[in-house]
Amino acid sequence: MEALRQLPAVDRVLAEPALAGLVAELGHAGAAALARDALAARRAALLDGAAPAADRDAEAALVAAAVLALDAPGPVRVVNATGVVVHTNLGRAPLAPEAVRAVAATAGGYADLELDLATGQRGSRQARLGPRIARLVGAEAGLAVNNCAGALVLVLAALARGREVVVSRGQLIEIGDGFRLPEIMEQAGARLVEVGATNRTRLEDYAAAIGPDTALLLRAHPSNFRIVGFTEEVGVADLAALGGERGVPVVDDVGSGLLHPDPDLPGEPDAAGSIAAGAGLVLFSGDKLLGGPQAGLIAGRADLVEAVGCHPLARALRIDRLGVAALAATLRLHADPARARAAVPVRRTIARPEADVRARAERLAALTGGEAMACAARIGGGALPAVDLASWACALPDPTGALHAALRTGAPAVLGRLEDGMLLLDCRTLLDDAEVDVVAERVAACR
Ligand SMILES: *Cc1c(COP(=O)(O)O)cnc(C)c1O
Repeated sequence: MEALRQLPAVDRVLAEPALAGLVAELGHAGAAALARDALAARRAALLDGAAPAADRDAEAALVAAAVLALDAPGPVRVVNATGVVVHTNLGRAPLAPEAVRAVAATAGGYADLELDLATGQRGSRQARLGPRIARLVGAEAGLAVNNCAGALVLVLAALARGREVVVSRGQLIEIGDGFRLPEIMEQAGARLVEVGATNRTRLEDYAAAIGPDTALLLRAHPSNFRIVGFTEEVGVADLAALGGERGVPVVDDVGSGLLHPDPDLPGEPDAAGSIAAGAGLVLFSGDKLLGGPQAGLIAGRADLVEAVGCHPLARALRIDRLGVAALAATLRLHADPARARAAVPVRRTIARPEADVRARAERLAALTGGEAMACAARIGGGALPAVDLASWACALPDPTGALHAALRTGAPAVLGRLEDGMLLLDCRTLLDDAEVDVVAERVAACR
């Protein structure tokens, strides 16, 4: 095939001026390994019918660009103008500066992660986290693991292996990436007992399902969908009262990581409320509404937390050192709810007054020749699917999506959303006012 004969040799690719820096940094062997992968991919693309470059030199330049892409260390910083606050594909929660500093302060050296410096004795990485988590939600004890999905698996394995767990049919959720509650249950070795109907489950349904083999009553917050209309679910307090009578603890997976009720987030379940209502354990994410690093937080009765923490899977799911630093610093900000709303980026974004968002959109529109328009932003990340946040965007005509593609592939990448031939750059999710200028510059460069 003619196109293949034009493919350059590895050394011809490495001689491209664009790769001089990369070859100097990685060495010939490291750069050649990347070039071989890039050439293999290019060969496959040509065999697949991709258009060949104009000549041998152009083909070498193309492969060199692919080598640079293969080498790019990531993830790279992007500008979130999508209007989705907790965007899973964009890394969920941006950390507060306090959390970033905490990570930076320990990342490059050794740390007293599992050593009590006062006594010289071995300590626990949970020592900085457990009591803080417990205090924040009014529980006896707390624990943090790698993420909330892991927390759920761990709790089921530790407390319900070989036994039954009662769940409402309306709460058999898939959280994302094929993570489905019935399958998790199976992996953890627990037997799922479904009760009620998709839209209605009553306390009697739970009561009838409890038997000698029942280990837990599980509630899972249907965080990424809503069943509307003729619906009924049993609240934590009623479930906990029933569980109390029958000696079966309630585990409440609230998912989104709201610690206390928040006026900005009406109807969103909160961890403290769940504990106060009698849940034996409450589980939530570190990087959704808590606005910290990826983590799964567990709080509740001391005996249950202890049993969970001692399970062998707890070691496999343990939170890493950088996560401990970021989470401890983030939890510290939550000690005062008003401070959390000001200092935790996710919460500040949600709390930002509409007038401020509008002012940003109007400034961006003036800078780019676009038009400021009212729109709706979303919390995302599995929280409040039905709640819109009043927002403002700068709208730019983009009938083919070419402008959005250029913004997405530039540096820094700017992500918006396309609606009816218009590119909307939602100004609620810009981290600060300076990002308005960054976006304006990128738009100017892309047109
Ligand atoms: C998001 C979510 C999870 C998973 O949390 P991760 O921290 O992403 O693992 C589990 N349960 C519920 C209800 C959720 O909303």
